[in-house]
Amino acid sequence: MSLPASDLSKQPDNRTTMELGAVLPLTAEVRDNHLFVGGVDMVELAHEQGTALYVMDEADMRARMKAYIKAFRTRYANSDVIYASKAFINKEACRIVAQEGLCLDVSGGGELAYARAAGFPMERVFVHGNNKTPAELREAMEAGVGRIVVDSRIELARVSQIAGELGIEQDIYMRITPGVEADTHEYIRTGCEDSKFGFTMLGDFAFKCVADALEISNVRLVGLHCHIGSQIFALHSFDEAVQAMVELMARIQREYGHVIEELDMGGGLGVAYTADDKPSSIDEFAECTVAAVRKYCDEYGVPLPRLTVEPGRSLVATAGLTLYTVGILKTLPNIRKYVAVDGGLSDNVRTALYDAQYEPVIANKANQPRTEIVTLCGKHCESGDVVVLDMPLQHPDLGDIVAVFGTGAYCYTMASNYNGQPRPAIVFVKDGEARVTTRRETYDDIMARDV
Ligand SMILES: *Cc1c(COP(=O)(O)O)cnc(C)c1O
Repeated sequence: MSLPASDLSKQPDNRTTMELGAVLPLTAEVRDNHLFVGGVDMVELAHEQGTALYVMDEADMRARMKAYIKAFRTRYANSDVIYASKAFINKEACRIVAQEGLCLDVSGGGELAYARAAGFPMERVFVHGNNKTPAELREAMEAGVGRIVVDSRIELARVSQIAGELGIEQDIYMRITPGVEADTHEYIRTGCEDSKFGFTMLGDFAFKCVADALEISNVRLVGLHCHIGSQIFALHSFDEAVQAMVELMARIQREYGHVIEELDMGGGLGVAYTADDKPSSIDEFAECTVAAVRKYCDEYGVPLPRLTVEPGRSLVATAGLTLYTVGILKTLPNIRKYVAVDGGLSDNVRTALYDAQYEPVIANKANQPRTEIVTLCGKHCESGDVVVLDMPLQHPDLGDIVAVFGTGAYCYTMASNYNGQPRPAIVFVKDGEARVTTRRETYDDIMARDV
């Protein structure tokens, strides 16, 4: 694969770090031309810990968790915020989520294992996935998870059978595909009709399966769930999805005499990856969702449910940044300027996978204007191994420390050992202190399972 031709007319923006606005983590600042996050010098940290390195601004994460809870509870008391752990998970992240009073989404046994190891309260765990194995379902039910989000008719029967064997009654949600086209990249769009997720509304299938769920033993259908996609900027998609869900709730009430007590509207709120992105705020998202729930419940005569939402990206993306060291510089005249860093698609596959964009700065030149347009490529044997395509950067020199902002979501959790690359450490920074919460992988780690 080769890269799309560089737009040679693109001009550098001459911005300095602090002019990048919404992509910066909450505590970002510049002192003596160095980038600081959480009161910690990113250049010193890179030298101490080595690169590539994931850094999380703990104050940013916690502030967004508090903001979410406040935005929903002040508008709608009977609400909960569920953190979608696939965006970023390690044990310390689970502990922080628990401390901040959020619930936790896990998808499958691995994320459940993190939650258990971190002592996360199991009644606040929601289990997702379009193909949870019978073993994963059993584990989750034995652990006492709060809700299982059932994704198919086959799974409904499986949950019922396993719950019966365990002698329990399992609270479930049914995941519905509401047929709403969210305004986002097609690979992260999940609510439209051609989707592997959930019960389709086509041919009345979802409605008919609700009857099965109400009849089957050992499960209690307490809620409906939908998740229409990710990195969504246009809030009207959420309004449309609420309408479709409440309409279904009304029909279930009318025709089956069953009141759906809980409504989970999923995640998907977008974040700023570039300085020019203008996503909706957490407050605007809450306002839109809550207003839609009130409006449509009133219109369709449905009692107000417990409302849950499941943000992932919008809780952690901007808290994270990745630090790299510049190793090689290559200028191809009239083609592109390559800055090669000591990581790449092994620690951030989003650029290769979704054409993601990021804002980079040189952490040891943080106050200087970004006067060049460069491509930050990785060290892997793939031409498509790019972290940042054609974006402004300060003039680079060998040994510079590059910081790429907005990498807190879907980077570590999608990381790989491609080319035998050990995965980076994760460092949380706060109040001038840096603590390693996941250590860097060693070569022994990556071979530990080989026999
Ligand atoms: C991925 C996912 C989320 C979180 O999505 P974000 O776009 O990161 O907010 C929430 N719910 C479900 C079911 C998901 O699959």
